[in-house]
Amino acid sequence: MTSTSEHSEFPTGQEAREIDAVVVGAGFAGLHMLHKLRELGLSVQVYEAGDGLGGTWFWNRYPGARVDVKSMYYNYSFDPELEQEWEWTEKYPPQPELLRYINHVADRFDLRKDVRLRTRVTAAVYDESAARWRITTDRGEVVSARFAIMATGCLSVPKMVEIPGIETFRGRSFHTGHWPEREVDFTGRRVAVIGTGSSGVQVIPLIARTAEKLTVFQRTPNYVLPARNHAIDPEFQRGIKSRYRDVRKANRESGFGIAQPEATKGALEVSEQERNAFYRKVWADKDSELVSMMVGFTDTLSDEASNETAAQFIRDRIAEIVADPAVAQLLQPAGFFGVKRPVLGTDYYETFNRPNVRLVDVSTTPLAEITASGLATTQESFEFDDIIYATGYDAMTGALDAIDIRGRDGASLREKWAAGPVTYLGLTAAGFPNLFTITGPGSPSVLSNMMVSIEQHVDWVADAIDTMRTRGVKAMEAETDAEQAWTRHVGEAGDMTLYPKVDSWYVGSNVPGKPRVMYAYIGGVGAYREKCDQVAADDYDGFTLTQ
Ligand code: NAP
Repeated sequence: MTSTSEHSEFPTGQEAREIDAVVVGAGFAGLHMLHKLRELGLSVQVYEAGDGLGGTWFWNRYPGARVDVKSMYYNYSFDPELEQEWEWTEKYPPQPELLRYINHVADRFDLRKDVRLRTRVTAAVYDESAARWRITTDRGEVVSARFAIMATGCLSVPKMVEIPGIETFRGRSFHTGHWPEREVDFTGRRVAVIGTGSSGVQVIPLIARTAEKLTVFQRTPNYVLPARNHAIDPEFQRGIKSRYRDVRKANRESGFGIAQPEATKGALEVSEQERNAFYRKVWADKDSELVSMMVGFTDTLSDEASNETAAQFIRDRIAEIVADPAVAQLLQPAGFFGVKRPVLGTDYYETFNRPNVRLVDVSTTPLAEITASGLATTQESFEFDDIIYATGYDAMTGALDAIDIRGRDGASLREKWAAGPVTYLGLTAAGFPNLFTITGPGSPSVLSNMMVSIEQHVDWVADAIDTMRTRGVKAMEAETDAEQAWTRHVGEAGDMTLYPKVDSWYVGSNVPGKPRVMYAYIGGVGAYREKCDQVAADDYDGFTLTQ
C-alpha cells in the first residue's frame, strides 16, 4: 500500500443527494452488496434498470431457462438460517424458482426499500477534490456517493445478429435475454431460433413441442451434455444442509467454485477403457455435473490430444442419438471441448429427430437478411411467424461500457479498456478510485459458479470499505504497476490453456470489433481468493490509500 494525504472539502452548493454508496444492478450481486453495506451502517442506493429484482433471472424468462449449477451450490451462503430454511425442488431449478428465491431474500432482509427499479445509471463521474462519485440516471436523478459499485452482470447486454432488416420483420421477435414477462404461446406457429449456445439449447426442445415447425439456425455446434435434471432427493438436500459449512469451504477452494474429486492423471495417462468408463459415468449419472467432464483429468482444458478424447466421446453420443447421420454430423462440434462454454441440455439432440424440426447450417451459408416475412441465408429464404434470437451477449464489458464512467481527470473507462479490460484483480482499475466491479473482467466470474465468485467479491469489497472507514481512508485506488502485472497474469494464465484457441464470448470474438483477450481469469477461484486475501492482509498491496 502507498499512502498519500491531502486536504479537501465537498464543493459548496452541491445539489446531489449525498450517500455512502451506489450499487448498480439488483441481481444476486447487487442485492448481496446492499445487504453487506447496510450491515456496515452505510447509506446505499441501488439502481436497477428492470422492473423487478433478479438481474439475469429477471430477464431470462424464456421457456426452459434454468441454472446449470446444482441448486444446493447456487445460492447465498452468507446467512446460515437462510440456507437452512429455503427448500430447493430440483437439481437445476428453473428460472421462476430462482426468481422466487431472490425475492424471498429481498423480503427477508428488507432490501427493496433501497432499490430504485426502472432506473438505468447512465454516467458515473469521479470528483477527485471531494473523493466522491457523481452518479446520473436516465430519470435525471443525480446522487453523490463515496463508493460506486458495479454489479451490472457479466451477461446482461443482449447481442443481436449483425445483418440488416431486423426491424422490418412483421412477426414477433424475441431475444432470450430480454424475454417478455407474459407467457408466449408458440402453438401452431412457424418459429426460427437463431443460436445454439446455452440459451438456444434450453429453449429449442420446448418450442419444438408446440410449434408447427421449428427451424434452428446453427453457426457453430456446441458440446451439449445431458442435464439429467430431476426432483431433488430430500435426503441429499438434508445431507448437504447438515454439512453446509464444509461444502461451502470446499467450493470456495476449488477451481470452478464446485468442488470435484482432485484429478491426478492426464487423460492419456490412463487406459482408453478407464477413460471412457469415466466419461460414460459423467454422461449417464443423474447426479453428475458439467464441470466433472472438464476437470476429471488434469489436462482436458490444456492439452489438445487429451481434450480430443472427451470431444470424441461426446461426438459419438450425438451420433447415437440423432437418427439422420447428416444432421448428426452437423451437430457434432469440431473444436475443443470445454473451452467454449459447454452446455447442459434436456432432450436437445433428441429434438432433432422430430419431424417438425429442421437444422440449418449457417456456417457455410450465413444469415444474410431479416425480411418482412422471415429471413434469408445466402442460399435460401424462409418464412416465419416468430424469430427467437438466442444470439448471446456483449459479455463482461458490455454493461460497463454502456455507462459513461469517468475517473480522475475525466478519464473514460471505456477508452482505457479500448484494447481490452485492464484491471487489478478484476475488481478495480487505476484512475478510478473507490469504484469496484463485482465479478468484473479479469476475475474468475463466468469461469466459475457465479454465486461463489459474487460472494467472494462482495465480502472483499465490504471488508475494504470497512477498513477504509476505520482508518479514515477517503480513497482507494489500484496502482498502475499492480494493474498491469495482474492483467498480464490473466492473459498468461489463459495462454496456458486451450481457451484462447477457440472463438467464444470468453475471448470477445462473438462481438465484431471487440478486442480479443481473455476476459475472465482461469487461475481458479481458490487460488484467486488466496491472492485477494493476501493483498488485503498485506495492507492492500498494489493500492494507494488516500486519507
Ligand atoms: P452464446 O453462448 O453466446 O450463444 C449465442 C449463439 O448465437 C451461438 O450459437 C452463436 O454462434 C449464435 N450467433 C450469434 N450471432 C450469430 C449470427 N450473426 N449468425 C448466426 N449465429 C449467431 O449465448 P447464450 O446461449 O445466450 O449463452 C451465453 C452464456 O450465458 C452462456 O455461455 C452461459 O454462460 C450463460 N447461460 C447459462 C445458462 C444456464 O445456466 N443454463 C443458460 C443460458 C445462458 P457462434 O457460436 O458461431 O458464435
